Amino acid sequence: MREKPVPLPNLIYNLTLSELDQLLKAWKEPGYRSSQIWKGIYQSLWNSPELFSNIPKKLLNKLFSEYSFCSLTPTNSLSSKDGETVKTRFKTADNHAIEAVLMRYMKRHTLCISTQVGCAMGCTFCATGQMGFLRHLASGEIVEQVLYYARILAKTNHKVTNIVIMGMGEPLHNYEDTLEAVDRLNHPDGFNFGARRFTISTVGLVPAIKRLAAEQRQVNLAVSLHAADDDLRSSMLPINKRYPLNELFDACREYVDKTHRRVTFEWALIAGINDGLDQARLLAKLANGLNCHVNVIPLNPTQNFAGRPSSRDKVLAFKQELESLGIPCTIRIRRGIEIQAGCGQLATDK
Ligand code: SAH
Ligand code: SF4
Repeated sequence: MREKPVPLPNLIYNLTLSELDQLLKAWKEPGYRSSQIWKGIYQSLWNSPELFSNIPKKLLNKLFSEYSFCSLTPTNSLSSKDGETVKTRFKTADNHAIEAVLMRYMKRHTLCISTQVGCAMGCTFCATGQMGFLRHLASGEIVEQVLYYARILAKTNHKVTNIVIMGMGEPLHNYEDTLEAVDRLNHPDGFNFGARRFTISTVGLVPAIKRLAAEQRQVNLAVSLHAADDDLRSSMLPINKRYPLNELFDACREYVDKTHRRVTFEWALIAGINDGLDQARLLAKLANGLNCHVNVIPLNPTQNFAGRPSSRDKVLAFKQELESLGIPCTIRIRRGIEIQAGCGQLATDK
């Protein structure tokens, strides 16, 4: 017999400020309450009734009985040897597992958060892709991952400085909830996290990139490229059959034209597969004249993919070739590999 799906709670982080306002108006509360509660949640980071000392008990009872302030339960936390990377596994209210990562580096505190349980895109080298798609996360569940770490950082007087939407899932497949979460965290009266400090990473969903461009959002866009010819890219990223490279680059050009922002291309270097200079040259041709930047990272190992990371020499040669052809390139440092917290390593079997 199939298990019945568990209903998700009414999560307070699913509400916009105006929805919270409407709710409290419907409860006949004075107009200033919504702003007090919103600030409590997003500025003071409160999540239990006793913390809201400025709100009457009766209202708090009602609010906390009708809305959940905690739908994600941390079940496991792993730190890298240097202590700079922490990966947390959460259980969702319907018993799925998702993961988020905090990376401390220099003065930055970067969060990598998830937007789906699993992923439908099936990229061969990615652990999340290997597990398949279970469901989208609600905007509030995406927000809650950030608030969880913000509370931890607040204990040492630190703040989240960057949010990369590069955890489990394809954010632009869950467009509405992902961008609602960005808007909620961006709200000036609340968490007030600047749009330019978000990076959304996509496998290349062309219509969604165009939509993002039309909305002229100031978030950073990263596109996972990994190959510069259609045959090779389709063999690793099945979505390329639907949105081949010429369409993807047209969408990227549109994004740069409309937003005046630089686009980043992500490239996991796999030994003998996509780390040759021919690929670097093809990429330079595709990206000719485009305001872009390439991030290369040696492949992180995953269970069901036999490919190996490129050697240091190959990585450097790839970077040099791109740069000699006028394409800026940085080598991403691999972080948290030993705790499976690196790019493409987030997957959970409960
Ligand atoms: N779905 C989005 C964001 C999540 S994946 C996307 O694909 O862009 C985050 C990044 O990790 C992407 O750039 C993805 O291509 C990369 N990635 C996936 N598996 C990887 C692996 N095994 N090693 C290195 N990078 C990987
Ligand atoms: Fe999904 Fe991104 Fe992994 Fe591809 S790389 S399977 S799009 S999470």
